[in-house]
Amino acid sequence: MNYEQFFADKIAELKAEGRYRVFADIERQAGKFPRALVHADGRDDVVKEIAVWCSNDYMGMGQNPAAIEAMRTTAESYGVGAGGTRNISGTMHEHILLERELADLHHTESSLLFQSGWIANLTTLSTVGSMLPGCVIVSDSKNHNSMIEGIRHSKAEKHIFRHNDLADLENVLKSIDPALPKLVAFESVYSMEGDIAPMKGICDLADKYGAMTFLDEVHAVGMYGQRGAGVAERDGVMDRITIIQGTLAKAFGVIGGYIAGSQAMCDFVRSYGAGFIFSSSMPPAVAAAARANVNYLKNHNELRIRHQERAATLKQRFREAGIPVMDSVSHIVPVMVGDAVLCKQAADELMAKHNIYVQPINYPTVERGTERLRFTPTPHHDDQLMDELVEAVKEVWGRLGLKAAA
Ligand SMILES: *Cc1c(COP(=O)(O)O)cnc(C)c1O
Repeated sequence: MNYEQFFADKIAELKAEGRYRVFADIERQAGKFPRALVHADGRDDVVKEIAVWCSNDYMGMGQNPAAIEAMRTTAESYGVGAGGTRNISGTMHEHILLERELADLHHTESSLLFQSGWIANLTTLSTVGSMLPGCVIVSDSKNHNSMIEGIRHSKAEKHIFRHNDLADLENVLKSIDPALPKLVAFESVYSMEGDIAPMKGICDLADKYGAMTFLDEVHAVGMYGQRGAGVAERDGVMDRITIIQGTLAKAFGVIGGYIAGSQAMCDFVRSYGAGFIFSSSMPPAVAAAARANVNYLKNHNELRIRHQERAATLKQRFREAGIPVMDSVSHIVPVMVGDAVLCKQAADELMAKHNIYVQPINYPTVERGTERLRFTPTPHHDDQLMDELVEAVKEVWGRLGLKAAA
């Protein structure tokens, strides 16, 4: 077999469908977010300034001076790496402090760190689903890839309910043998649609049918609730979630993932989860920076208020300009294009002509025919940046003949 030909053919397939991924090569600049520099065509010497409109650093915390200082001083005192897995010489005091900070955030007995949110989901769902005898996992149809992979690896029986649909969830739960243990897996904010799960209704159904709840708050921690613990805090159901999962890489601005819940549950995943046990722990300086940001956002609700105001303002501005912004009740501002090639072309032109960076969102991240641009205004996207964005999007929409708002 010609292996090289196989690889090349698979890439050609993606290009023909207009969904070959091209990375923007950028340099973030602390103190200037969301402005950044971008390198053209892989060249070191050609750079221009752009405005980033698609970062998941939702609050601009990647440049928080307190986090930079925590990372710098901790690297100076600990050195850079942790030097092992948590079990073999790699548990640093900074990990313990961060786990305490996260348990305090979610008002849980305990929490457990992972190298990423993706690994936290994969490890936790696969470990619980495979070890709990007869476990049935009930999963929202729009759940993130990391949850789907975790459920798949668990080999547990799986049922899918229609996205955010309580009636369908109840039908599914009703159809499962009442004697079997069950887990309902869902997210709070769905990051490609910008909608939010009916949290209380899901908890009520889980109680009624004796199910555990697994909640991915990746797109909500730091951004919702009085202290930034997420939508479960905002909706007053934090104590009804069996396993809360979050990331330190989005609103908390650093890297890493975690789960929070009871002492016994966290200890179980710590003791049996392969993705926790066999992987080296995060650098202590990273843990220190994350802790600084978690703590900062606990105490700065005004940033959350400003964040929501910016998102609402951008949606309003797009609507007034006839741009087809999708219904979103969160900080995510998705704009429908509905065609993979045009979606990429629109993004390319915004970057080339207007110095605006927004990544096209194509299949398999979203369904075919629902390709979109996904804007993420932060507290740092001021009125001037918004003026520039709306004018640029209007210009590109007109020239490419993209669909206007209905
Ligand atoms: C980004 C994301 C993850 C993974 O988190 P990382 O820390 O980036 O690995 C998990 N769930 C959802 C819904 C996400 O969007």
